[in-house]
Amino acid sequence: MKIHEYQGKEILKQFGVPVPRGIPCFSVDEAVAAANTLGGPVWVVKAQIHAGGRGKGGGVKLARSVDEVRSLATSILGMQLVTHQTSPEGQKVRRLLVEEGADIRKELYVGIVTDRGTQRVCVMASSEGGMDIEEVAAHTPEKLLKVFVDPATGLTDGDADSLARGIGIPDASLPKARAVLQALYKAYWDTDASLAEINPLILTGTGDIIALDAKFNFDPNALFRHPELVALRDLDEEDPAEIEASKFDLAYIQLDGNIGCLVNGAGLAMATMDTIKLFGGEPANFLDVGGGATTEKVTEAFKIMLRNPNVAAILVNIFGGIMRCDVIAEGVISASRAVGLTVPLVVRMKGTNEDIGKKMLADSGLPIIAADTMADAAQKVVSAAAAR
Ligand code: ADP
Ligand code: MG
Repeated sequence: MKIHEYQGKEILKQFGVPVPRGIPCFSVDEAVAAANTLGGPVWVVKAQIHAGGRGKGGGVKLARSVDEVRSLATSILGMQLVTHQTSPEGQKVRRLLVEEGADIRKELYVGIVTDRGTQRVCVMASSEGGMDIEEVAAHTPEKLLKVFVDPATGLTDGDADSLARGIGIPDASLPKARAVLQALYKAYWDTDASLAEINPLILTGTGDIIALDAKFNFDPNALFRHPELVALRDLDEEDPAEIEASKFDLAYIQLDGNIGCLVNGAGLAMATMDTIKLFGGEPANFLDVGGGATTEKVTEAFKIMLRNPNVAAILVNIFGGIMRCDVIAEGVISASRAVGLTVPLVVRMKGTNEDIGKKMLADSGLPIIAADTMADAAQKVVSAAAAR
């Protein structure tokens, strides 16, 4: 789960990371009032969307008067902000952060991620922070310092200091940098984040260390113990199909291809997508209906898949273990009727009550293409999609 920059900065502040004074705003009037409350002489008007690269996309602007804050807020609020992290259509800006302009001496980078490979927490830092950090990581990886932290000990003073020195923090500011790194680490840890990133972290003219940006991703599996984080969710920033799917307890992720997939079990769903790709197709979605799918759930799953206009054919691939094939067949038949299915449907089922399920599909009169093996199913759906 992602949150907005201004929410991330609230969290950083609670953990003791200094951030500029700022006020979130939902209208131009609120932005003007915020500018007056903060006082000048320099403000920054920042689009709040769940994507980075806002600065380059024109969503972060400096203002030198309250009038300028008003005109910037007017142009940024409601714009479709396109960045390298949004879709090509961009993301509509509905919220702003108006904050005081900082006195930037140097833009630095710090980020923390869960590293599955080492089963440790990877703390990264670079002297080359700001809007081009991706370039730094890609072309001069030696400028991205990394420390792998043992979760049992946390980020030690020694590790924090060596990162801070490594990115060129002057001696006089080292204690502040250490405090910021350790506070960021604690924020990451205590919120069950999978990513906590400050880019840029700045060194100011007076030697202070301040977070000018804040990005958090939270592990969805840990959200049950963080109702305060769930409350920060902004559904406007999420894919409507994925929100709908989560209401029915379906794991759905929209993708770029044209073959809809409905599968039970995440592992089988991934294998199904791989097999489709092996035969030259592109999946339109990942969809795991789970172990205990009912007819209603399968119907909803069909509806959600078919909302995607790119879907040219559907593959249903079911292993009947706990789930019985006849229940799935009933779901597929009633869903196909309910949604007035107009794209080819390939069904492969194996396992409990397979014969009953197959007979139900054959007797339904629906134009369902039966398949036997994974390869057979994938080839049939790829050619059905290609024929459209
Ligand atoms: P994004 O990462 O989405 O581009 P940032 O919040 O990092 O957005 O802002 C982009 C750039 O704008 C920063 O690298 C920094 O140079 C500048 N900036 C952001 N906030 C402030 C601020 N409060 N004062 C001065 N400059 C800022
Ligand atoms: Mg940034």
